[in-house]
Amino acid sequence: MNIFESMQRNLVILFLLAVAAISAVTYFAINNVVSEQSRIQQRAMAPVFSLIRQELIRPLYMAQMLDALGPFKGYLDGSEPDPQALQTKLENIGNTLDMLVFVASERERIQLQSNRETIILDPEHVDWYFRYKDMPGDFFAVLGKRAQPHLYMDIKQYDKEGNFLGFIGVGKSLAEFMRTFERYKKQYGYDFVFVNSAGEIALSSDPKWEPRAERYQKITELAWYQYWDKSKRTEEERSEFISFNNEDFLITQVPIEAMQWQMFLLSPLEEQQQASRYFFISNLAVVLSLILVTTVALAYLLKHFSQHVNKRLYTDPLSGISNRLHMEKLLEDMRAQGNELCLIMADIDRFKDVNDTYGHNVGDDVIRIVSRLMQQGMRKQDFVGRWGGEEFVMLLPETDLELARQVAERIRLSIAERPIALGNLKLHVTLSFGVTHTTQNENTTELVDAADKALYQAKQAGRNRVVARELTETS
Ligand code: GH3
Ligand code: MG
Ligand code: MG
Repeated sequence: MNIFESMQRNLVILFLLAVAAISAVTYFAINNVVSEQSRIQQRAMAPVFSLIRQELIRPLYMAQMLDALGPFKGYLDGSEPDPQALQTKLENIGNTLDMLVFVASERERIQLQSNRETIILDPEHVDWYFRYKDMPGDFFAVLGKRAQPHLYMDIKQYDKEGNFLGFIGVGKSLAEFMRTFERYKKQYGYDFVFVNSAGEIALSSDPKWEPRAERYQKITELAWYQYWDKSKRTEEERSEFISFNNEDFLITQVPIEAMQWQMFLLSPLEEQQQASRYFFISNLAVVLSLILVTTVALAYLLKHFSQHVNKRLYTDPLSGISNRLHMEKLLEDMRAQGNELCLIMADIDRFKDVNDTYGHNVGDDVIRIVSRLMQQGMRKQDFVGRWGGEEFVMLLPETDLELARQVAERIRLSIAERPIALGNLKLHVTLSFGVTHTTQNENTTELVDAADKALYQAKQAGRNRVVARELTETS
């Protein structure tokens, strides 16, 4: 597998891993937020439902049961007129149900209660009896008064001929209900509003929505109700998010069908939103760090691969020093900067003879050793590369001609004065050098041509020598 194939494979694997990781994190994040939301919601709602069942629905069923069994019928129709017997019955049933039980008789115009209270039913003092008596319908659920919150279930009674006999019913103090709600309100921050079939607010956790001066406030008067979608059916439980006054609310409608009431729960969402925000931010942080890690890993891989590729691209495989491509690039870069520069061309003298005499392998070894010697002889800021065959190029930035000549001379001597040892062979190798110098923005071929010319002169003059000439010099 070549370097590009393995790079491609690694990138694909990395990408797939990152996608998988980010997908997983996002999935868990969404899951978390959803389940946390539902958990908060459920925790807040569950007690309300059990409270409604216990405090509101139970009295309703008890009243209906009393209506069906008819234990007080005899008193109401006058067939068992003994008030003492009725009182005992009321007390027994009241104790058993743990509720106030009452009978209001049309015949006697008195109301007897399981708490031993007896109330004279006259229109001056007792309002409800006469109001509901004349109202159509046989069942009335009355809820009210925050100061003394209570719930009454009143059921009309008739004899066989359909003559009105009075009411039976149960009553329940809602003080406990209100106390419990106060606690929920502190804990979950929500408010409730009970609305009767006429759309009037009968009871609420917020005193400002209570009936005022005997007048009920209508649900339509509440600010949020304008945003509530009234087109939807009212007998279904539903929740909606409503924004008003720069705040978000979750409003849940709980129909209490048996009584034709609606209960609305209003929960401000600040706290829940905070929780969701926290989850979202922490998960976002995880996703971002994953992306960061992936990006850094990718950048690292790319850098690693590009270094590797560049090294291969710019290295001469035989000698291990820079190749012609690299030298040309370096030269281009230096030319672009326009600084003073010297270029040296070096060529091994009579190299053909080495090949012919000792073979190509020895020739290769000589090229390798000469390359190393050239590299050792150059200064830190200089570059050396194999131009091709047994030719070398050196680039000496910010160097004048004389200094470059000295560098070439030093290298020439270091190679010429010491024979190259190859096994038993001791080869006397020399090189010729052409040095040129420029301060101008000439193109690179001109510079190379000039160095070549100088090199040719060195060969002509007998080899194993340095010829230096300014680029501008002719001949
Ligand atoms: P001069 O002093 O004029 O430069 O003489 P020369 O023999 O060095 O010059 P010439 O250009 O006639 O011969 C160069 C030889 O270098 C020819 C070629 O076989 C040999 N050569 C070029 N590249 C390589 C190489 O990579 N390995 C080996 N072993 N020989 C090479
Ligand atoms: Mg040669
Ligand atoms: Mg040559």
